[in-house]
Amino acid sequence: MSSSWAPDWMGSAGFDRPEDANPRRVAEAYVDFAAGEMRPWLKSLGMRWFPVVGWAERGGSLADGHGNSVPRFHITWGTGPGVVAPFERLVRAAADDGRLSFGFRHRVTDLIVANGAVAGVAGEVLRADTAARGQSTNRDVTGRFEQRAGAVIVTSGGIGSNHAMVRANWPTDRLGPAPDRMVAGVPDYVDGRMQQIAKAAGAGAINEDRMWHYTEGLANWDPIWPNHGIRILPGPSSVWFDALGQRMEAPCLPGFDTLATLKRILSTGHDHSWFILTQKIIEKEFALSGSEQNPDLTAGKWSAVIRARLAGKGAPAPVEAFKTHGEDFVVADTLSDLVAGMNRLTPDAPVDLARIAAQIEARDAQIDNEFAKDAQIIAIRQARAYRGDRLIRTAKPHKILDPGNGPLIAVRLNILSRKSLGGLHTDINGQVLRPDGSPFDGLFAAGEVAGFGGGGYHGYNALEGSFLGGCIFSGRAAGRAV
Ligand SMILES: Cc1cc2nc3c(=O)[nH]c(=O)nc-3n(C[C@H](O)[C@H](O)[C@H](O)COP(=O)(O)OP(=O)(O)OC[C@H]3O[C@@H](n4cnc5c(N)ncnc54)[C@H](O)[C@@H]3O)c2cc1C
Repeated sequence: MSSSWAPDWMGSAGFDRPEDANPRRVAEAYVDFAAGEMRPWLKSLGMRWFPVVGWAERGGSLADGHGNSVPRFHITWGTGPGVVAPFERLVRAAADDGRLSFGFRHRVTDLIVANGAVAGVAGEVLRADTAARGQSTNRDVTGRFEQRAGAVIVTSGGIGSNHAMVRANWPTDRLGPAPDRMVAGVPDYVDGRMQQIAKAAGAGAINEDRMWHYTEGLANWDPIWPNHGIRILPGPSSVWFDALGQRMEAPCLPGFDTLATLKRILSTGHDHSWFILTQKIIEKEFALSGSEQNPDLTAGKWSAVIRARLAGKGAPAPVEAFKTHGEDFVVADTLSDLVAGMNRLTPDAPVDLARIAAQIEARDAQIDNEFAKDAQIIAIRQARAYRGDRLIRTAKPHKILDPGNGPLIAVRLNILSRKSLGGLHTDINGQVLRPDGSPFDGLFAAGEVAGFGGGGYHGYNALEGSFLGGCIFSGRAAGRAV
């Protein structure tokens, strides 16, 4: 086992509930898997990775607390579709052999329970639709279906697009009141319905108040799904202000501690915050999450990646498109014009030019000091000690207000709903448990609906890039058990 994985995972998870026994067991097994068998196994199936490992969720507090002590965010060649491809090949081969059949446009509405065990599923057949991947499809019911089975594995995903459900589960005691406005970081089929159906049939669910929502959401200027939000994967240099114009303190720095920052933002009584940065920072540090925002990596073409990220002028094309068209962006040559533009976007929460200027000037002064006391300047220098960050992710430290680094850019950041860290309670084999902890015969669950394994193998916090790994690991365990 890698020496750093387990303490980082456990420090971030903070398991502290009696019902964390199964999630913890799954987490321990997953860390072993990820540090050993996972890479060669996935490579043997044809998966490949971008060679520069990213450093997400750095923590920024105590050594035994949340965060990655080393870079470990691996990007797959082909992004999400590249993760799915090897499994799709296996599934299609099984279908060609007559060992598997698909039920596209079949929506499960009920689990069939007989003699206390799940014996199949029933639901609605929806009218065919030609919408592209991720886009909303019609929900017109054309008939019903029923399918009997010795075992059912639920893999219906999380709750992130169902904002009523997100708000109902929101951990107000830990994070403060739920935001009034969120953008949706997942398609609208991520609606949590199947989780409710399983619960109504007798399944137990745990840790539903543990969620992973981001603080760097943009309203997509070219949306695929309703209220579509895109997350910025930030490098460490943008200066981060809350809605009142107060620069946020460590660990609320870009890329350090998602939930601490979420709580800090909500403590202002507003849902948004601000990045202020330079053209130099956006060019080197802004990446956007999602396969369609990374056409070079999604196509898996080296030449395109080098052109877009290393040799190109300006930021990658999808980032430049947001800068031009996105409703959350303000670009200006002077700070006073920038702040005026920010205040036009949020007239209900204007920020004060003199206050913003004083904080950035104080920050900029620390650039001249090799022993800087500013936590973010220290973090930027530390990031550049890692070759991967220095090469493609962290701009050389520079003064924000030096016009030579401009123009200035302000980005209004929205809360973006994404992942459910809790869900259906399972044992390490994916067997769903009833609320009293006994097995619910015939029912298994894997992936996000099961909190990526066990009912929440991340505990309270994710290290990032650990969601698809949990889907693969818990799916394999459930498949083998069935
Ligand atoms: C933009 C974006 C970027 C991401 N980036 C990363 C990343 O870099 N690394 C990482 O690890 N994770 C990432 N994630 C998270 C990860 O993609 C998800 O957690 C993961 O795909 C969940 O997989 P799943 O199979 O459990 O559920 P899903 O992928 O949501 O699939 C669930 C399926 O079940 C179907 N379904 C739901 N209800 C029913 C029903 N009642 N009847 C029939 N079918 C139903 C849905 O239509 C869907 O096809 C990202 C997610 C998004 C949206």
